Amino acid sequence: MKTLNKKAPPVNLNLNVRGLRVSATLQINEVSDRLHREGKKIYKLGLGQSPFPVPNPVCEELKANAHQKAYLPVKGLRELRGAVADYYRRSEGVDYNPDSILVGPGSKELMFILQLVYYGDLLIPTPSWVSYAPQAHIIGRHIRWLPTSINNCWKLMPEEIERHCQSDPDRPRLVILNYPNNPSGCTYTSDELKEIARVAKKYSLVVLSDEIYAELHHQGRNVSIARYYPEGTIIGGGLSKWCGAGGWRLGTFAFPRSLNWLLDAMASVASETYTSTSAPIQYAAVRAYSGGLEIEEYLANSRRILKALGKYMARRLQKMGVSVSDPRGAFYLFPNFNALRPLMKERGILTSRDLCAELLNETGVATIPGEAFGRPAEELTLRISYVDFDGARALVAAAQEPDKPLNSSFLNQYCTNCVEAMDQIASFLKK
Ligand code: GLU
Repeated sequence: MKTLNKKAPPVNLNLNVRGLRVSATLQINEVSDRLHREGKKIYKLGLGQSPFPVPNPVCEELKANAHQKAYLPVKGLRELRGAVADYYRRSEGVDYNPDSILVGPGSKELMFILQLVYYGDLLIPTPSWVSYAPQAHIIGRHIRWLPTSINNCWKLMPEEIERHCQSDPDRPRLVILNYPNNPSGCTYTSDELKEIARVAKKYSLVVLSDEIYAELHHQGRNVSIARYYPEGTIIGGGLSKWCGAGGWRLGTFAFPRSLNWLLDAMASVASETYTSTSAPIQYAAVRAYSGGLEIEEYLANSRRILKALGKYMARRLQKMGVSVSDPRGAFYLFPNFNALRPLMKERGILTSRDLCAELLNETGVATIPGEAFGRPAEELTLRISYVDFDGARALVAAAQEPDKPLNSSFLNQYCTNCVEAMDQIASFLKK
C-alpha cells in the first residue's frame, strides 16, 4: 500500500514526530478514494465513519445557526455543556452539571490535550484504536501496552492492570478504556467494569472512558465505568459516531468534581491552541444532546441495522475459518486469519500489512492491518469497518419494517457493498 509520506523527513523535525505517518484510519480513506477515482471498485471498510446521515432536526438547527459568528467560551457553549451534563445524568445517573463538561473540536483533540496536561504513563490494551499511542509518543509519555486475548474478545482484564501496577503502585497512570470497542466491536459487562473500577481505585488511576460509540451499543444498553469509579473517570464522547457527524468535529469530556483541575488545565491549553469549538456546530449539538422521539427512532434503527450487519459479517468470516467475535456495538470487527497462515504463507503474506495490501490489491476490499492497533506485525489480524452502505436509504427501509430483526435479504438490498465485500474475501481465501 502506498503511503502518503514518501520523502525522508528533514532532520530538524521534533524527535517525537520524526517518522510519524498519517494516521492509518485517514490514510486508508485517502488511498481508497484515490483508487476509486482511478476507476477501481473499492469496498470502503477502512475508515470508521458513520454511514448514517446527521438526524434532520440537528441539521436544521445547524442551518438556523449558520449566522453564529462569535468566539464561544473556551470550555464550550454553556447551553451545550448543560445539555451534555443532562444527557449523562439521564443515561448514567452520574451527577454532572455544566461545569463538569469540556467541549472540543473532536474527542481526539481532547484526548491529545489530556495526555499533554496529565503527567503519567499511558496504559492501553493491545489492540487499541490507532491514535492513542501516537498521541502519547508525540508528547513523550511512556506507553504501556497491556495484553489481551482473542478468546476474551480482546478485552482488557482487571488482572492485567493489577499485574502492571503492583510493581510500582504509586506511579501516575492514565488508562484508556474504550467500549463498545474500536477495533473489536466488543464491550464490557457491568461486572467486568466493576472489577476494573476496583483496581483503578486501588492504584488511583485516571480512567479515560472513551464512550464515543456508547449510543451504538447494539442493544442500546451501554453502561459506563463512571457509575463504579466516578471520582477517577472522565467520559469521552461526541457527535462523530452516533450522530453521523464525524466531519463536524465536536467532542466532549465529562469530568468528576475531583478532576476539575485537569479540566481547567486542558481549557488553558485549549485557549492557547484552538481557542474554542466552531460556534454553529455547538448550537446544533445542543439539539442533538436534547434527544427526543425523532432522535430515539434514528438511533433505534441505526442500531438494528448495525446489529444485523455486524452479526452477518461475523458469521460469514467464521464460515471462512477466520476467528472473529460477534460484535456487540459500534461498526467494527477484528478478525484473525492466523488459522489460514499456511495458505497465506504460500502467497507471500507474512504480516497483517501484507494481508491488508493483498486484499486491497486483489479484491478492492479496504481494511486496516492489526499492526496499526498495536498487534504484533506477524499476526494476521485486520480491522473491518462495516460502514460501506447508504445509511440514509437503509434507515428509511428499516423504519418500514419495525419491530423485527433485519434479515439477509434486507442486507443484500441495502448493505450490498458490505455483503459483496464478504464474497470477495471468501474468493480471495479460496485462491
Ligand atoms: N475513529 C475512526 C476510526 O477509527 C476515524 C476517525 C479517526 O481515526 O480520526 O476509523
